[in-house]
Amino acid sequence: MARIKFFGVRGSISVFGRKFEEFGGNTTCVLMEGPERTVIMDAGTGIRELGKELVADPDLGVGRECYLLFSHFHWDHIQGLPFFVPAYDPGRTFTISAIGRDRAGIDLRSIFETQMQQDYFPVTLEGMGARIEFLQTPEDHYGVESASVKVVRHNHPGGAYSYRLQDTEGRVVVYCTDIEHGDEIDRNVVELARDADLLIHDGQYTQEELPRFRGWGHSSWEQAVAVAEQANVKQLAITHHDPDHDDRFLLEVEKQARARFPHTVLAREKMEIII
Ligand SMILES: [Zn+2]
Ligand SMILES: [Zn+2]
Repeated sequence: MARIKFFGVRGSISVFGRKFEEFGGNTTCVLMEGPERTVIMDAGTGIRELGKELVADPDLGVGRECYLLFSHFHWDHIQGLPFFVPAYDPGRTFTISAIGRDRAGIDLRSIFETQMQQDYFPVTLEGMGARIEFLQTPEDHYGVESASVKVVRHNHPGGAYSYRLQDTEGRVVVYCTDIEHGDEIDRNVVELARDADLLIHDGQYTQEELPRFRGWGHSSWEQAVAVAEQANVKQLAITHHDPDHDDRFLLEVEKQARARFPHTVLAREKMEIII
């Protein structure tokens, strides 16, 4: 069994208010709890609540391996990390990782040290207390025992990565956000998502809005559905909701998306999917 729980489903910037209560306003962060280890995808503002749950849950204790994987490092995907309470516990270890051969040369430590330098935040990365390790790979895949991670680089300003995560029991989640397909659906992403138990995909815009946001690096919900259909996935969760799309708008999108691909949900904060 794997448990997926959404803590941040908003793209670009966090929002709050009565019009956003159903879906939530925190930026991107997803917990994936496999049989052996914990994976956190991106560290948007949603990671703050995730951290509190991690501390409160005895099953997610200090000794469990925990990886933080990043699609890319735009603000809405890293901004919550300084508020991730478990990282202040000297008894815990976290592995911050950017898998992908094109990313082998980036200075991963400096990305996170910079966002926590004193001009921006009172506590340094090292001063947080937990042991933080950095993992980069010269390949587009990485494996621990029978669990594996595979990535493909996709189109987004500055580049971003889709992830295919398989746990030790063979369950597969594909995480694909901040992707602009362009006129054609990205074939590499479809292949990465092939037969997945769950596809989590960017759906920031509608197809009608998309031409106005060419070059901004995102998908329409219709494109998310197209990837789900072409890849024959079992379930689709659409995420990275636009900050201007309120609950009413998103409920309507969900209705339309389900009419095309019945096993679709629009991701909501605190929503859990068991696969
Ligand atoms: Zn984003
Ligand atoms: Zn981005």
